[in-house]
Amino acid sequence: MADNRNEIVRKMAELMRSGATMLDKSCPLCGAPLFKLRSGEIICPIHGPVRIVKSESEVVEILTDAVLDELEDFAARRIHEILTSLKSGDSPSEEQSLRSLMQWLRVLKYARATKKSSQKEQ
Ligand SMILES: [Zn+2]
Repeated sequence: MADNRNEIVRKMAELMRSGATMLDKSCPLCGAPLFKLRSGEIICPIHGPVRIVKSESEVVEILTDAVLDELEDFAARRIHEILTSLKSGDSPSEEQSLRSLMQWLRVLKYARATKKSSQKEQ
């Protein structure tokens, strides 16, 4: 994800060059202008494909997806950290590390399952 302004401007220029048109709507997550690709797909220069929001509940839906993505990413990173400390033998307590490993795996599993079930409803 690009939080750098130059990167955003560069992406927007890239989209224009590829024939995308800038819309008068903005991304519900970051407020960046949305673009319509020649294929008809609507995308945010930062978040990629987005759906045009018609109601408040749709905003919540999109935000939920973003939060679940973030959670999944965070859990995966924690699992990686714990695994690294276990492998290197730096872990102060193996038992405790394994316990938190299991907890993060559960978080990851639920985040993925929740995302899948919300995608199925569409
Ligand atoms: Zn965005």
